[in-house]
Amino acid sequence: MKDAGDVLLVIDVQNDFMPGGALAVAHGDEIVPVVNQLARGFRQVVLTQDWHPAAHRSFAANHAGREPFDTVTLPYGNQVLWPVHCVQDTPGAELHRDLDIPHAQLVIRKGLRAEVDSYSAFVEADRTTSTGLAGYLREIGAKRVWCCGLATDYCVAWSALDARAAGFDVALIEDASRAIDLNGSLDAAWRQLDAAGVARVQAADVLR
Ligand SMILES: [Zn+2]
Repeated sequence: MKDAGDVLLVIDVQNDFMPGGALAVAHGDEIVPVVNQLARGFRQVVLTQDWHPAAHRSFAANHAGREPFDTVTLPYGNQVLWPVHCVQDTPGAELHRDLDIPHAQLVIRKGLRAEVDSYSAFVEADRTTSTGLAGYLREIGAKRVWCCGLATDYCVAWSALDARAAGFDVALIEDASRAIDLNGSLDAAWRQLDAAGVARVQAADVLR
């Protein structure tokens, strides 16, 4: 069992990111039993949900003449346009039904504002608006943040990088995550994570 300074951060294990979902991550469902087993070894677990209004700017459908996976420039920078996904209060936004972490203490919802996306669980894509998670983790005495979920190269990587920037020791649990890998995004993410000092670990190594 991990001690009280360790927090498992489970990113976006939601129906729309599962095979058959609106923004499917290949083999995304395979992580669910791995995450469940990991969570039993942590006293402290925080979950996130991507949670968008239907008018969200990250949806290609809200940009005339654009297709999913195009990139556009928004006031805060480049934004990949995604299929409509994780709309608030829809079945696609629900956590996977087999996710079994009854002791999870907090669910952070992100991407709630129509004009700004948020891959990160800590700071929205404008890079200024905080979700409050770093302050919460500090107040509960967290020292180490163990990140897993969907997708490795977007929401998990951005969350891990921001956790590191907030001063925590951070690891990304590779086999408890799956990637989208759009135009080399997975390699790019691992380079950034490595440069930032985020450890790359496997689930079997976490609880030994
Ligand atoms: Zn989203």
